[in-house]
Amino acid sequence: MLFYEFKVAWCKLCNQGWIEIVKEKGSEKLLLQCSECVSQWDSVDYISNHIFKEDEVEVIEPTRKEIEKYGWYSYVLNE
Ligand SMILES: [Zn+2]
Repeated sequence: MLFYEFKVAWCKLCNQGWIEIVKEKGSEKLLLQCSECVSQWDSVDYISNHIFKEDEVEVIEPTRKEIEKYGWYSYVLNE
């Protein structure tokens, strides 16, 4: 995979990493995680509202197909 292929926003918490779409291990659920500080969010809207996930979950890399099916591909930054 390309590094940061599914990034959606720069992390304003740590100002050091990209927030990327990830997939919860053992589930079909997608969520968002910062590549540096590993903060997690349940939805893209929550990033700007500073609503973080309370319990960190183990995540894996989703495929582009999974992201498209979930309706999140439009959030991915192409640059
Ligand atoms: Zn961060």
